[in-house]
Amino acid sequence: MTVALRATIDLGALERNLITLSGKMGDAKVLAVVKADAYGHGVGACAARLALLPQCAGFAVARVGEGVHLRNAGITLPVVVLGGPAAPDELEVCVQHRLTVAVHDWTQVAWLEAAVPSRALDVWVKLDSGMHRLGFHGDDFASVASRLERAPAVREVPVVMTHLANADDLDDPATPSQLDRFSAWTADFGGERSIANSAGVLGWPDARGDWVRPGLSLYGISPFLTGEGHALGLAPVMTLRTRLIAVKTIEAGAPVGYSGTWRAPERMPIGVAAVGYADGYPRGAAPTPVLVGDRPAATVGRVSMDLTAIDLRGIVQAKVGSEVTLWGAELPVERVARPHGRIPYELVVGLGARAAREYVG
Ligand SMILES: *Cc1c(COP(=O)(O)O)cnc(C)c1O
Repeated sequence: MTVALRATIDLGALERNLITLSGKMGDAKVLAVVKADAYGHGVGACAARLALLPQCAGFAVARVGEGVHLRNAGITLPVVVLGGPAAPDELEVCVQHRLTVAVHDWTQVAWLEAAVPSRALDVWVKLDSGMHRLGFHGDDFASVASRLERAPAVREVPVVMTHLANADDLDDPATPSQLDRFSAWTADFGGERSIANSAGVLGWPDARGDWVRPGLSLYGISPFLTGEGHALGLAPVMTLRTRLIAVKTIEAGAPVGYSGTWRAPERMPIGVAAVGYADGYPRGAAPTPVLVGDRPAATVGRVSMDLTAIDLRGIVQAKVGSEVTLWGAELPVERVARPHGRIPYELVVGLGARAAREYVG
């Protein structure tokens, strides 16, 4: 069956992006972030490919269940659960599946102290250097570490980590102050450090540390407020395409789509593409760039659940069945997200289950 909407995932590009990122990192080890189904790219295929590379030292996920999924898929490299256990019974699951947990809250410390697991866990301690989301204050680091090191459930605390809140903006002074705070807090720590997400990796050399945690950039997408992945030497991994399922001519003044937010300025051809907000395509009324075949075009009117109208003026070859690229190699997803005030993370992660995933490369 020909499926209209399909996401082609280029595993060769994924591999090259990891090698590119690792090449900029000196000796730092790369923890490939594959949370949220590898940012919508399909964690099974992506992790299996990345695990073959010597540059991939391990994986990071947000939740325990995601770590279990990686183990069940045959991944044997270290897996760090960035959110740590969310309940005491998750600890035993982490032990069984040899997951490393990040610990950010005293409650988790107490769970680890109370647990008598069959085997001890590696624990990363997370400090809150300024984002005020997860992590301990630096003043508590020594006592957290010493309590953890005495807990029977803890094998060792090999790494202290923090997370940058504003690294996507290269002019923001919040990042240097987070870095200063973190380095002061961890000056006496004998283990390793992990600071950088994609924006930290690509934009803030001082954030390198011993373990870097790139997510979005692995998939070829820029983590910064402006610019696109290719300027950073990255190649988009996901290309999302669909087809036109209708082509028609409408009269001047004809409204298009729900609420008629857009009206044809002249008699003109429009096409209707099989994609909608149910697939995660942005619903806002702003014109969104697409390619019809290889010709640039834009959406008109409001996106529906399953359908999106496209201005076909000047694209005489368009017909039912014509291919429409929504984002990817020839149309960076950064350019699709920004007119809607969205971030590219949301678009790739939000791609619905209705899109067939095809793996190439
Ligand atoms: C998601 C996440 C990352 C990866 O972030 P990107 O911006 O996608 O590179 C790194 N570290 C932590 C703690 C995260 O939650």
